[in-house]
Amino acid sequence: MGDSTKFLLGEADIPKQWYNLQADLPTPLPPVLHPGTGEPVGPEDLAPLFPMALIEQEMSQERYIDIPGPVREAYRLWRPTALHRAKRLEAALDTPAHIYYKNESLSPVGSHKLNTALAQAFFNKEEGINALTTETGAGQWGCALAMACEYFGLTCEVYMVKISYEQKPYRRNMMEVYGAKVTPSPSQDTQAGKAVLEANPESTGSLGIAISEAVEAAVSSGGKKKYSLGSVLNHVLMHQTVIGQEVMQQMEMTGEYPDVVIGCAGGGSNFGGFAIPFVRENLTGGKSARIVAVEPMASPSLTKGRYTYDFGDNAATTPLFKMNTLGHTFLPAPIHAGGLRYHGMSPLISHLYQLGLIEAVAYHQNTVFEAAVTFARAEGIIPAPETAHAIKAAIDEALKCKESGEKKVICFNLSGHGHFDMVAYEEYFAGNLIDYEYPAEAVKQALSGLPQVG
Ligand SMILES: *Cc1c(COP(=O)(O)O)cnc(C)c1O
Repeated sequence: MGDSTKFLLGEADIPKQWYNLQADLPTPLPPVLHPGTGEPVGPEDLAPLFPMALIEQEMSQERYIDIPGPVREAYRLWRPTALHRAKRLEAALDTPAHIYYKNESLSPVGSHKLNTALAQAFFNKEEGINALTTETGAGQWGCALAMACEYFGLTCEVYMVKISYEQKPYRRNMMEVYGAKVTPSPSQDTQAGKAVLEANPESTGSLGIAISEAVEAAVSSGGKKKYSLGSVLNHVLMHQTVIGQEVMQQMEMTGEYPDVVIGCAGGGSNFGGFAIPFVRENLTGGKSARIVAVEPMASPSLTKGRYTYDFGDNAATTPLFKMNTLGHTFLPAPIHAGGLRYHGMSPLISHLYQLGLIEAVAYHQNTVFEAAVTFARAEGIIPAPETAHAIKAAIDEALKCKESGEKKVICFNLSGHGHFDMVAYEEYFAGNLIDYEYPAEAVKQALSGLPQVG
């Protein structure tokens, strides 16, 4: 097996449980706070947004949570995904390192996001909810939730950041194929959208504004609609641990164990789902892999953000999360990795970073696209711009091995393909991509307006 190019599992090997790292944390996660009272939120505070099963998962300290039969059945559409040994990339880099990647681009919608979308749609349907609202940036999350809602028989309302709605029509079309209603955000549908348009009729929107609209649409529905979030929250990262649990089995097949584990991080869900089982092994299994999150220089919440309580959305309507943040009013520059343009970072990933259990690195987008093209020419897969951040870090690690002669084992998550991102590649080849400097002043501004709690 050691010489194989792909490491394949059977459908029986799809994990039967999600893994909850909260059970094994050396110190517990700080509570989520109510912005009015400054007190920890209870299940009832979250009930207008999420079904009780997901709220329980969000707060659960159980080590393992069973994956319901219908969700596991849905996973069989494409899971288990392959673990590849990137032999041609190793040769192209002339490195003694062994490079592996987990191919989450193989899902029907092209990314890891379906792992949680199907679970969320299922638990909502179980509690009698027939409609979900959500936001999407470039459209990856909207497509995943649209497909999952269609699968379990719910309707899906997606608030799509207006600039993407106009510039990336194909993801919008894809959501419509799955039967979703797609609205450009900011819109006149919600008070949050109206307020933004009144202040700036030309607003092209942001993820934070779209979240505010989707949350409002759910909260004001009188219980008919719930809200669904594609990243950041504990239950989302837990659903994504199917990735890392499969990788554990597959690395065993290779006869090697990773020295370095790498994933790109926007809200932290693919990185978390991929890396958290390795964090567990570092904590409880006597292993010592380096675990590296990769983010864009234009939105570097881990490497440059402050660890403090902040809102999850621009309009300051969500509860307060203790996380690495650039400030909820901060709007990241329009890099092509839309899924990485978020002011905050998953509280769980932020906590791991504070505890020194993971590392983080930030890159500019031209060097990231250069890595993406190197990878595509070696391995054939054209990665999403988000994913390309992880590839860049993996290539850098492999090149360090070339220098030192070390034969390290590098494993990264290929979170999605870039077939709907060809305009980004076109602009890269034309030399039109801007390497936005870290916006220190704007971040300082945004951080000065944070709530004083905790
Ligand atoms: C959404 C997305 C990301 C970033 O989101 P995370 O929650 O940080 O994983 C990364 N890669 C792809 C392909 C995505 O669609």
